[in-house]
Amino acid sequence: MEDKGILIVISGPSGAGKGTVVEEIKKDRTYALSISATTRQPRSYEKDGEHYFFKSVYEFKNMIGGGKLLEWAEFCGNYYGTPRDYVVGKLEEGYNVILEIEVQGALQVKKIYPEAVLVFLIPPNREELKNRLSGRGTEDMETIEKRLKRASEEIELIPEYDYVVVNDEVELAVKRIKEIVDVSKMASARYVDKIRDFK
Ligand code: ADP
Ligand code: 5GP
Repeated sequence: MEDKGILIVISGPSGAGKGTVVEEIKKDRTYALSISATTRQPRSYEKDGEHYFFKSVYEFKNMIGGGKLLEWAEFCGNYYGTPRDYVVGKLEEGYNVILEIEVQGALQVKKIYPEAVLVFLIPPNREELKNRLSGRGTEDMETIEKRLKRASEEIELIPEYDYVVVNDEVELAVKRIKEIVDVSKMASARYVDKIRDFK
């Protein structure tokens, strides 16, 4: 892989299906998924270093202080952040790098990397969001309510994103996101250096 990869940021309300969709996309070996650091408690199936790097608040703050995070944010009472070196390295190697992060972090990334492609993943409707979030069975009622309330605020920020993808069926949502990436590869801005050779 010779060209620099595309940086894809995927956000969306909790329960929209980001994790599910991203899990599918990363089966394609041209994609690399960034693993975030978080202070949230691991869910029963989550493994340290695979789903997240689980950190104490003290450790997380040290990562911020040491400039180790590309972006970070607080979400429903926990900290989340993207380790910088992995993202920078994989992009250089030509991988399309996926960040599955919430809206405040996505906007920070857009400032640092204006060429990043921001995708907002939504469920077909609010009822389905509720069903998915409660059906997942990983959060208690209070946390679900918090996340649904936050979802309404997050949706307000859709105009800041480049694309909206509806996650009605996982397979279709994956296809749509890959199409966006393929099109982004043809953006004229990526050809500035190459075009010089034609003159
Ligand atoms: P997020 O990462 O956005 O919080 P998840 O990927 O954990 O969401 O998905 C939330 C729940 O919805 C999971 O139980 C998942 O299996 C389910 N789900 C995801 N995408 C779909 C879909 N297209 N149709 C039906 N259920 C889905
Ligand atoms: P969850 O607790 O459901 O795994 O994640 C909660 C929210 O935090 C989701 O919107 C998820 O996308 C977001 N998130 C996960 N990792 C990061 C990160 O590194 N940075 C930011 N800003 N948000 C993240």
